[in-house]
Amino acid sequence: MDFLTSDWVAGRVPDAPIEDVIRAGIGIRTEGYTHQSVFYYPKTGGFQGITDGMAAKLDGIIHLNTPVQEVRKQGEGVSVNGEEFDLCVSTLPLTYNPRMFPDMPADVVKAMTELEYNGIASILVALDRPEHPDLSWIYLPHESQGPANRVTYMSNYATLNAPEGKTSLMAEVTFRGGEEFPGEQMEKDVLAGFVNAGIMKADEVLFTDRSTANHAYVVFDAMYAKRREVALGWLEGMGVTPLGRFGRFEYDNSDQCVIKARALAKTMLAKLE
Ligand SMILES: Cc1cc2nc3c(=O)[nH]c(=O)nc-3n(C[C@H](O)[C@H](O)[C@H](O)COP(=O)(O)OP(=O)(O)OC[C@H]3O[C@@H](n4cnc5c(N)ncnc54)[C@H](O)[C@@H]3O)c2cc1C
Repeated sequence: MDFLTSDWVAGRVPDAPIEDVIRAGIGIRTEGYTHQSVFYYPKTGGFQGITDGMAAKLDGIIHLNTPVQEVRKQGEGVSVNGEEFDLCVSTLPLTYNPRMFPDMPADVVKAMTELEYNGIASILVALDRPEHPDLSWIYLPHESQGPANRVTYMSNYATLNAPEGKTSLMAEVTFRGGEEFPGEQMEKDVLAGFVNAGIMKADEVLFTDRSTANHAYVVFDAMYAKRREVALGWLEGMGVTPLGRFGRFEYDNSDQCVIKARALAKTMLAKLE
């Protein structure tokens, strides 16, 4: 990537309020970036437990495991896979849209497919170790710590995330969006990096598991704002309201996605009244 803009900084790199700067300058400790310091986490089912909980209350109303294949404007509404709807919200990554909208103009296809993003591999490591340090996660900026950029102490989040007397952690490795995970060797390098960084011992590893997400991080290159504007403008013109991290190509965490979804639901319900 040759050109990155500073757009990613907004909301991610904390502002330094002048009061905090003055306090810190005379040696008074300040709280800093508190946004993620306290959070709730499901006792069982991991992070998936949150969406499973929501889905359970919507049984019979929502369709799961139903890939969106074709979307068309249909009068005042929208047709999805041939079924007509009054309102349509899309949280699908914008880069997937060109293959679903048969009549998309070439310039919009180009804008959507050229949006840049990074993928991620999450490697879960089960450990024969009774406890972790009292931490949620740490970042690993040094080369000697291996290719993972973050380690998250999963069994600290919920005790049921590991059997009694054992612990688990997760390594995250980012790679260029649309590319395949680099493979087995990468996983070995991650574990070696953790041993090198003193995070775990090699003989503590019971097993590993791995999953990859194609879309993990928005890349704010020089063309990002223009491509996104074209993509969102066209979708809205088709009667489709984009929402979510890659539905809008915004660097939102899940809490912000839920807040925005609730606000949108309120506006849409008001429209239907
Ligand atoms: C490794 C990792 C760690 C993270 N850690 C945190 C964290 O600690 N805290 C936090 O708040 N956030 C975290 N996030 C971010 C958080 O997961 C996202 O912000 C959030 O999931 C975005 O929600 P969404 O609904 O916009 O999109 P998604 O959850 O990505 O939902 C989009 C859905 O669209 C589906 N889809 C794609 N194509 C089709 C199709 N053709 N038809 C039907 N469905 C389709 C996908 O399967 C997916 O389920 C993390 C993300 C990753 C990858």
